[in-house]
Amino acid sequence: MLASNLPWLLLHSRNRQSPFPGLGHSGSGSTLLGYIGIDTIIEQMRKKTMKAGFDFNIMIVGHSGLGKSTLVNTLFKSQVSRWSSGWGGEHKIPKTVEIKAVSHVIEEGGVKMKLTVIDTPGFGDQINNENCWDPISKYINEQYEKFLKEEVNIARKKRIPDTRVHCCLYFISPTGHSLRQLDIEFMKHLSRVVNIIPVIAKSDTMTPDEKNEFKHRVRKELETHGIEYYPQNEFDDDMEDKNENDKIREAMPFAVVGSDKEFQVNGKRVLGRKTAWGVVEVENPNHCEFALLRDFLIRSHLQDLKEVTHNIHYETYRARRLNDNGGLHPISANNTQESNL
Ligand code: GDP
Ligand code: MG
Repeated sequence: MLASNLPWLLLHSRNRQSPFPGLGHSGSGSTLLGYIGIDTIIEQMRKKTMKAGFDFNIMIVGHSGLGKSTLVNTLFKSQVSRWSSGWGGEHKIPKTVEIKAVSHVIEEGGVKMKLTVIDTPGFGDQINNENCWDPISKYINEQYEKFLKEEVNIARKKRIPDTRVHCCLYFISPTGHSLRQLDIEFMKHLSRVVNIIPVIAKSDTMTPDEKNEFKHRVRKELETHGIEYYPQNEFDDDMEDKNENDKIREAMPFAVVGSDKEFQVNGKRVLGRKTAWGVVEVENPNHCEFALLRDFLIRSHLQDLKEVTHNIHYETYRARRLNDNGGLHPISANNTQESNL
């Protein structure tokens, strides 16, 4: 039916002067004339993505000891963050906020992801934490600038390397009280330039009641301070999107637990943490919300995180930059370190 019918199909549509060759004048799509093959675009895109792979850049922010490195390692089931406790034990807290980006290629089902974890040791660890989000904000903008420069190059690369931060996991201390001033200031300043996903760290240190109450309080505080975290209300595409994201927003911030230790539970080996009440299983949704976070971040919203970064945050930077300067001037000094393992 396919190839042999094509000349007739084109002629047929031309005769009727349809603006959409192949659709026919009835407007009923391909049913009238048979299969065209439009749906193979999905397979074509899949093949291209498989070949090219993709970049995903995740930043972790929160004061030291909150389990940031452990959590990203748990998320990606490998030692993607160098500074977890399992990697050479103690390390010194730096005197100022440092930015350390480490990249790995992770492959699953033939799909390659270049994952970059951007750690921010020293954040919130000083006596005076005033403006300690500055180096972070600078790093984020530098990546937009790099991308913009590549984009406006006359001989630009076929595929611009993407170092832009797609997601910033912000770790809230499980105090059970309220957000700290620093938490509020950071999220207020950065939520306009990057996708922030707040999480409650080390939630195994709270009872279920304390956890629920704390989550409720944090949500209220974020609302009071007008902090828009990801997925932002204003960027919902349609009603279906809105309904799905409403459910996620109502469940945020996810109270998570990370671990690199396995335990035997009901004959199965599971990742967990031993507490006075027994083993808290990382992936058990009755024990903590790690699985919710993982599903949301990787299995349902990873592509959207990249799109919001490109279409909203980068676009805002780009428009402002081109407007303000009437051209491109480099942003000064780069104090970041990048390495490829
Ligand atoms: P970071 O400084 O924020 O990167 O924290 P690390 O990942 O290095 O973890 C600091 C310490 O907290 C280590 O001893 C971890 O074993 C422990 N830790 C990590 N995640 C959790 C958690 O979810 N719950 C508890 N109770 N401890 C954790
Ligand atoms: Mg760490």
